[in-house]
Amino acid sequence: MVKTGSKNNKPKTPEKGPGNLYKTLFDEAGIALLIVRKDGTIDHANREFVNLSGYPAKALEGKKKWTEFLPEQGALPSDARCRLINKQGHFKDVFITIRKVPRSTTSEVSFLDIGSLADSTEQNRTNDVKYRSIVESTDDAIYMVDADCRYIFANETVLIGLGLPEDAVIGQSYSDFHTFEDAREFRNVVHRVFETGDSHRYEHKDSKEERYFLRTLSPVKDVHTRQIKHVTVISKEITELKKTEEKLKYLSLHDVLTGLYNRAYFEEEMRRIDTGRFDLVGLIICDIDGLKLVNDTLGHDRGDELIRTASKVIKESFRESDVVARVGGDEFAILLPNSPLSKVENICARIKNAIASYNTTNPKLPLSISTGFAVRSGYIKNVSELYREADNNMYREKLYGSQSARNAIIRNLINTVEARGLTTRDERERFQRTVTALAAAVGLPEGRIKDLHLLAQFHDIGNAGIHEHILFKPDRFTTDELLEVQKHTDIGHRIAQAVPELNHIADLILKHHEWWNGNGYPLGLKGEEIPLESRIIALAIAYDAMTNPRPYRGVMSRQEAIEELRKCSGTQFDPQLVEKFIETIKPVDSIKPVDSR
Ligand code: GH3
Ligand code: MG
Repeated sequence: MVKTGSKNNKPKTPEKGPGNLYKTLFDEAGIALLIVRKDGTIDHANREFVNLSGYPAKALEGKKKWTEFLPEQGALPSDARCRLINKQGHFKDVFITIRKVPRSTTSEVSFLDIGSLADSTEQNRTNDVKYRSIVESTDDAIYMVDADCRYIFANETVLIGLGLPEDAVIGQSYSDFHTFEDAREFRNVVHRVFETGDSHRYEHKDSKEERYFLRTLSPVKDVHTRQIKHVTVISKEITELKKTEEKLKYLSLHDVLTGLYNRAYFEEEMRRIDTGRFDLVGLIICDIDGLKLVNDTLGHDRGDELIRTASKVIKESFRESDVVARVGGDEFAILLPNSPLSKVENICARIKNAIASYNTTNPKLPLSISTGFAVRSGYIKNVSELYREADNNMYREKLYGSQSARNAIIRNLINTVEARGLTTRDERERFQRTVTALAAAVGLPEGRIKDLHLLAQFHDIGNAGIHEHILFKPDRFTTDELLEVQKHTDIGHRIAQAVPELNHIADLILKHHEWWNGNGYPLGLKGEEIPLESRIIALAIAYDAMTNPRPYRGVMSRQEAIEELRKCSGTQFDPQLVEKFIETIKPVDSIKPVDSR
């Protein structure tokens, strides 16, 4: 038996050796271990925990509470997953186990760093990687903030957006990186989430960059206490969607052709004014005069142009804030709340002046608009009645002005063709003589010779509707241009139908480019289906074109022209007429104009 010394001298502990072993095991364990005191202060931290926390043991033991490393945790967890924050502010997912050290006031806490967990947690690890890759691969900004709007987490999109590394963002406040208004709005919503425990969604507009975001803020609750710890934010850019939405909204309230408000908007305004407290309301109605004539003679595009012109001229007479709407094809309406009669009268006069000034600077296609107005004082009439009254007044004005407007349009069409000066006065006179002689040669009765004269004068009136750059083109026409030029028979036909003095030659104008063999335009008529006057004019035009300089061709001699006519006899031209014409033109051609060149 081993002799023992005095009672006091007995060996300190027989477990000394194993104690060292345990200490070594404690220190060198592959998982992070802590011994914590009753008040939560760290008593011992092993090497793995030192690595995990980023602090040296000296800075931990007796100095820090272990819960400081778990900022997201409300209640102390045990056998639970949570996130540990290290000295650098980085998060690590860990699995925590707490065990009471027997017969002691201390506890042992072990942290399993999930990133280095073995087999049993492999599934969790895979899930973690999966979730992380979803969070990091999306274009949406995903982040988490605490109640003070400090970043707890931010995905790659957030960091790229801020242009900062993770270290510079985590722990900082949202307001450090955003405008005052943005931060205030954000803070309010975060607080609402904390107060209500519900998710909240709001649209945020970044005014500087004209970008829109839809932000969804959701509470993150503690698994044990169900207290809200954080708020996750998913911020999705919706700029494209917003712009499309705004465009659709704009289109639903505006007219595409003129950019003015549309009828739907105007009716809404009428309802608003009806229910509002407006003592004085003025309403003006404007309707373009003779738009159908312009559509029919010059085509729908020119009609559209006239509508756009009218809308501009009308709009210019009002303030930007006034509701000017296109309420029908060529009808405009303006609501003027709080406007006395004198003001409404003034505005109508302003519109008239604007039209007159437009017409002096743009003489090609005159603009004429009939206007009518009505003013409500007191609550006697509703706005629909006011509309009817203004409309009636507009029609009364139209009764007086419409015909003169139509005449003005026709006069301008004729002037346009003449002003384009495709032929000189001498040439026109020579052309008239040729036509007269030819008519006499075929024995056309006197009455029809008069029509032929008119036809000679107005056969190309349809050119008013053809673009100048085509008419005056020095080269040969392309196929499209030729088709455009060929429209002049149709246009001329419609113009003549609209003018009482030319009405009876409208048909002759339409058919003056038909060919004897049926290959002409626009109808492809043959032989005597083509009116004689149209056949005569066709021949005279061709001869005239050959013997007068044209932008795309030099002048032919009389002999060359005669040969050309013979070549086309029976195909383009009436063969009998060609022979009579050739007999006729010799003496006609020899007569020199009075003041030639
Ligand atoms: P009035 O002088 O009596 O006003 O007759 P108007 O020829 O102007 O014809 P009215 O006001 O009776 O009718 C409007 C016409 O405007 C009917 C339609 O042919 C034409 N129109 C309607 N919408 C459009 C459009 O968007 N573009 C074009 N070019 N014409 C239109
Ligand atoms: Mg009209």
